[in-house]
Amino acid sequence: MPPCSGASSRKRKQPPVAGTGSSGEGQGKSRLIDLSGLRFGRLLVLERAGINSHNHPLWLSLCDCGNTKKAQGENLRDGVTKSCGCLSAELSKRRMTKHGLAKSPVFRAWIMMRQRCTNKSNKSYHNYGGRGIKVCKRWLNSFENFYKDVGSPPSPNHQIDRIDNDGDYTPKNCKWSTQVEQNNNRRSNHFIFACGKRGTIAQFSRLFGIKPATIRRRLSVGWDADIAVTLKP
Ligand SMILES: [Zn+2]
Repeated sequence: MPPCSGASSRKRKQPPVAGTGSSGEGQGKSRLIDLSGLRFGRLLVLERAGINSHNHPLWLSLCDCGNTKKAQGENLRDGVTKSCGCLSAELSKRRMTKHGLAKSPVFRAWIMMRQRCTNKSNKSYHNYGGRGIKVCKRWLNSFENFYKDVGSPPSPNHQIDRIDNDGDYTPKNCKWSTQVEQNNNRRSNHFIFACGKRGTIAQFSRLFGIKPATIRRRLSVGWDADIAVTLKP
């Protein structure tokens, strides 16, 4: 099968210019070309959506997959932006199918991670995307990068887990853990007050070099929090 069939056939390089033709397109002139109603790849442009931080006009577009995306007009016209991100995700998936990883646990983990963070109808969304937990740029649309960074799970019981439960899915904040380890991690993310600060057991553990399990055990038998998080065993 040829690697790049279909997908780009609907791409339109030069969309018709709306309005009456004025002389010269005037590079850099702020005359706005109305893109609404035009299609670029999978994106159907709906309406103007302000400007980005670099003063470039943005367009709210509806992707064939149902997501919306604010895209830069320039990128739409140049064919740089062709979907909400689902296209590169699919291409990535297709490449992986070739490598035989499409049905692997690591691929499933990548799919589920993205679902939890980006799909509002996912049953876990409120605990992830709904709480502002994001998948980092490097991983969001590239299974290859995810796989490069985390590898395959050590056993079928391992799941991708975030070290800081309030942090994003990033190479630094993720590891493969068993359910038991994950539960421990959750528990360590309960906030405590010690040394005049509010923090998780994990954070105090990193700060003072005392194992989270030690801190938890101490607190459970009634130690003063300041001492529990600081005293070397
Ligand atoms: Zn899409």
